[in-house]
Amino acid sequence: MKPVEKILLDLVAIPTVSAQSNEPLIDYAQTFFAPNVWAFRRYPYRDSAGTLKVNLVARTRRPPRARPALALVCHTDTVPYEASWREAVKPVLRRGRIYGRGSSDVKGFLACILSAVSAFDDASLAAPLEVALTAEEEIGCVGAKRLAAAKAVRAPRLIVGEPTRLTPIYAGKGYGLAEIVVRGREAHSAFPAAGRSAIFDAARVLASIERAAKRLERPRHTAFDPPHATVNVGLIRGGTAKNIIPGECRITVEWRPVPGEPPDRALSLIEEELNRLRRRVPALDAEIHPLRLDPPFEPSQQTELRDLLSRLGGHAPSTVPFGAEAAHLRPSGGEAVVFGPGDMTTAHRTGEYVPVAQLRACVRHLQAAVAHFCKG
Ligand SMILES: [Zn+2]
Repeated sequence: MKPVEKILLDLVAIPTVSAQSNEPLIDYAQTFFAPNVWAFRRYPYRDSAGTLKVNLVARTRRPPRARPALALVCHTDTVPYEASWREAVKPVLRRGRIYGRGSSDVKGFLACILSAVSAFDDASLAAPLEVALTAEEEIGCVGAKRLAAAKAVRAPRLIVGEPTRLTPIYAGKGYGLAEIVVRGREAHSAFPAAGRSAIFDAARVLASIERAAKRLERPRHTAFDPPHATVNVGLIRGGTAKNIIPGECRITVEWRPVPGEPPDRALSLIEEELNRLRRRVPALDAEIHPLRLDPPFEPSQQTELRDLLSRLGGHAPSTVPFGAEAAHLRPSGGEAVVFGPGDMTTAHRTGEYVPVAQLRACVRHLQAAVAHFCKG
C-alpha cells in the first residue's frame, strides 16, 4: 500500500486545471486498480475547445451481476493558480501539511481513494464497490452531469469528495447565473437629451435585483448559514469613455438557492421585478439571459452513510453554502454525502494545503465505510 501522502505529491505534480486534459491523471489513477479485481469504463468527450476530457468508472468484478452498494466519487480538475506560486504543481510536504494546487480541492480525497483501492481485498465482498472520477467539476460539474445522463454510477450511496475537514455534508445550495444586458443610446455627454444612458438604467435594474434578493430571504432553511438563498452582482461592465453617454451595460448576477427551492426561482423573481420596472420606465431596454441553473444538493431521507461518517470522524453532519457534484449524482431514494480532507476556506487560494493527518484518517474512514456497506 503506497502511503497516501506520496500519492498526493504525485497527483499534484500532474497539472489538471479544468481547461487542460485530465487524461494523464486518469492514466496515473488507473494504475492503482488491479485489473483482476476491477472492471473499467472510460467516458471520454471533447470540451468546447476540442480538448480531450475523460470520466472513469471502475467497479469491482465481484460479486458478479450484483448492484454496487457504495460509490466513491471524485473530480480530477482544479482551479487555475498564480504563475508566481512555485509550489502549485511542485508540491511540498512541510510540517505535516502538503501544499500545492488541488491538495485539498480535491486531489487529497483522490489520493485517499487510490491508497484504499491499492490494497483492496475483494475476497469478502458481498456487494461491488464503485469509483467514479470526473472531469471539469470546477467549471460547472460538466463531467458529473455527463455521468448522470449516462446513468453510469449505479450505487445507492455516494461519498463525493470535497474538502470538508472530514465533516459529512448532507445538503448544499444550488447555483444560478445570468447576464443582464441593458441597452441605451450613445451620444455626446454634453447633449444628454440626444441619448439614453445604459448605466443609469442599469442602476434601476440593480435596485430591482436587490428587491428580488430581499424576497428570496423567504423561505428560510435553518440548516444553512445564511439561512436562505443569496444573490450577488459580481460584475458590471458598461460605457466607453467619460464623455460618451453609455450605450450598453452588462450585469452578471449569480444566486445560490436552498434545498426545496427551484433553481430558477431567483430568475423568475428578477424577471417579475424587471417587468414592474418596465411599466414604470417604458423606455428601459433590459434583457436577462440565464447561463446556469444548477439544482441544490437536496438532503436524503436515508441517513445511514452520514451517520456512519459522523461516528467515524466525530463531526456532526452539516451543510455547505456552495454547490457540488452530489446535486447531480445523488441517486433517487439513495443517499449522497460530501466528504473529504482539507478545508474549503483554504482551497482555491495560493498556499492551498491539506493536513497529512486528515489524509490518513480519511483513508481509514473510507476503508471502514467500504467494509460496512460492501463486505459480508
Ligand atoms: Zn472541488
